[in-house]
Amino acid sequence: MTVITRFAPSPTGNLHLGNLRIAIANALLSHSLEGIFILRYDDTDILRSSFEYKRSIAADLRWLGISWNQEIYQSDRISMYQEAADLLKESGYLYPCYETKEDLEFSRKKLLSQGKPPVYDRSALNLSSTQRLEFESSGRRPHWRFKLDHSLVSWTDLIRGEQKYSINNVSDPILIREDGTFLYTLPSVVDDISLGITHVIRGEDHVTNTAVQIQVIRALSEKINTIKFAHLPLLTDDSGGPLSKRINSLGISYFQDFGIEPMALCSFLTFLGTSSDIKPMYDLNSLSDNFNLKNVSRNPPKFNESDLLSLNAKYLRDAPFSMILEALGDVKYNEEFWIVVRDNIETLPDAHYWWEVCYGIIKPIINDSEYISVALDLLPKGDWDVETFGLWVKQIKLKTGRKGKELFQPLRLAITGRGDGPELKFLMPLIGYDKTVSRLRKK
Ligand code: GLU
Repeated sequence: MTVITRFAPSPTGNLHLGNLRIAIANALLSHSLEGIFILRYDDTDILRSSFEYKRSIAADLRWLGISWNQEIYQSDRISMYQEAADLLKESGYLYPCYETKEDLEFSRKKLLSQGKPPVYDRSALNLSSTQRLEFESSGRRPHWRFKLDHSLVSWTDLIRGEQKYSINNVSDPILIREDGTFLYTLPSVVDDISLGITHVIRGEDHVTNTAVQIQVIRALSEKINTIKFAHLPLLTDDSGGPLSKRINSLGISYFQDFGIEPMALCSFLTFLGTSSDIKPMYDLNSLSDNFNLKNVSRNPPKFNESDLLSLNAKYLRDAPFSMILEALGDVKYNEEFWIVVRDNIETLPDAHYWWEVCYGIIKPIINDSEYISVALDLLPKGDWDVETFGLWVKQIKLKTGRKGKELFQPLRLAITGRGDGPELKFLMPLIGYDKTVSRLRKK
């Protein structure tokens, strides 16, 4: 059987790390089993969905190298949802309700004040046809609720294991609003059935939805036995709390602009919260070969920006030079330069400073001009290699008696404009005699 997965974002905002992780899991599962991966836009909420968000979601996925076999827009499939709704109305699963928002809020507060769970009391089921007609003729339109079966719903979750979910304290969900538009639940079920989805992989925040949707699926078809569910625990911050608003609101472009490499981000989000080590992978094939839902831990993974940065640094350090050139696009570094700087950067844009140090213009820092002028007098002439710096420093040491930081740091600050970075013995042959002299001469 062909594995078919889907990533189903609501285009009401940009992708963030949490939903990207879900997208990656779905893409990798189908990729590893030569299946089909569908990008489905859950855009039935016409007011909040936008074309711009659809475009940015697709652009983010493409940037990450994730492709999809099919693209579905729920807004194109309303007639299918309508048909399903008619079926559910006929079989009595969908019932009309006329409560206003205020009515519902009032009963919710009342139940809470009595210490009871705020579950809808199904009073609409007791309406007589005359009462319904009265509502209709006074201009009220019903919203439609799905009548849940208050029994345990069970499924074998591919991450959480055997689930027995008590649906007693869940209100009958509204599937259709007063204005006739569909909420998320029914379109999602209709699509999962009609698209032949085999695996629904989504966040743990959807566990209740799954219990409800299993009942809706059952009411519509016998397909339930073929759809497998997997719920990934949600990302948390370092202390185990919910991810900060800042991180959550950061779109993927933040990481892109920051200089995180797409495959580093994919690797990070794939291995985070699994029993596998977090390591860089350079293409989706290798990543999907290393991906297995069985390795996903039930504990919420902690997201830490500096861990992501370290992985990015490792990714760059170990990448073949041809890949670096490709990632650089128009910028062209030479391999000699790259080998010297790659251990000292966390992102590709970081390397740019070192490019300027070697081949461009920087601002030397000279705090001790007397010492620097002694060093300048001793600077070896001719062609430089990796031995040159050692020979030079030996002379300076003899002349000044300095050692350690006192000896090295002023030279580094004058030649590179920074207190840290790649070893000077490797940098100096790239910088060359003339540039070094002019930097040491700066007052
Ligand atoms: N549109 C839903 C969301 O973004 C999809 C959930 C699902 O995968 O079914 O949360």
